[in-house]
Amino acid sequence: MDSFALDATPEGFRSGFVALIGRPNVGKSTLLNQLVGEKVAITSPVAQTTRNRLRAILTTPTAQLVLLDTPGIHKPHHLLGERLVQTARNSIGEVDVVLALMDGSVPLGRGDQFVLDLLQQCRHPVLLGLNKQDLVDPSQQEELIHSYQEALPGATLLSFSAATGAGCQGLVEALGPLLPLGPMLYPADTISDQPEKLLLAELIREQVLHHTREEVPHSVAVQIERVEEDGPRTAILATVMVERSSQKGILIGKGGAMLKAIGSGARLQMQKVFDGPVYLELFVKVVPHWRQKPGRLAELGYASE
Ligand code: GDP
Ligand code: MG
Repeated sequence: MDSFALDATPEGFRSGFVALIGRPNVGKSTLLNQLVGEKVAITSPVAQTTRNRLRAILTTPTAQLVLLDTPGIHKPHHLLGERLVQTARNSIGEVDVVLALMDGSVPLGRGDQFVLDLLQQCRHPVLLGLNKQDLVDPSQQEELIHSYQEALPGATLLSFSAATGAGCQGLVEALGPLLPLGPMLYPADTISDQPEKLLLAELIREQVLHHTREEVPHSVAVQIERVEEDGPRTAILATVMVERSSQKGILIGKGGAMLKAIGSGARLQMQKVFDGPVYLELFVKVVPHWRQKPGRLAELGYASE
């Protein structure tokens, strides 16, 4: 711990962990990026894109929130799915506050009920966040809020839009007082504790998600092989793993066009991370059934905990 931060902690300062829990696609990653004001998590219109638990850190004059972006909760279909749900479940027990995020632009569904049931066993304060308010017709607002209130009586309910930022300040102000008194856990200017390699891998995976559809995205894993300083330039070598050779064909595309588009999209994002030029080389490799192999999953950072 940084002793300077400890000494400088103002009286009444609060710090602690907030778990973001919710079904895939409700906007957890978008909210995280909105709250810390920078891109720390990848977002996608395709569900189930957040695989690793990410800490984003938000420091205000009165509190430090360490936010855990957990994989979306859903019914597991294969080993990777089970690990994802496990990680989300574990987070509920480890944190000080749970922020249960819902897509507040649609009525409460059965999948949301699965999340709320998990929260029944939670001994920490739960805040119910209704996201995507920018999509809600004002005439339907009251009815929607009412249905959520009935689903989890007693929980504090907040509406906001992670996409536009409307209401997000109110969310931060509501979360702070729910944390225990304590010093800063990270230096005040930290926004993420994700290892650089993981972030780089996620930036590549994000481009794969944006450029391909259906079966390909969920079968993809990215491994960063090398990151080297090369004068002012950063050279990065990465392997994109897929499960079938047909997927490899899709990823490479006609005359390599798809891989080129993925690479240049990722490179643009990486240049923002390094604040300088990036040279990125991508390889595509077929690893049959990588999702079913515990050893592979561990290697790629999906801890079994
Ligand atoms: P996650 O799976 O819960 O992490 O969800 P993401 O953050 O990846 O978001 C899923 C999709 O919902 C993306 O296309 C986002 O752009 C979109 N989204 C997230 N928050 C909002 C919001 O407040 N308003 C609107 N209109 N779209 C949002
Ligand atoms: Mg996500």
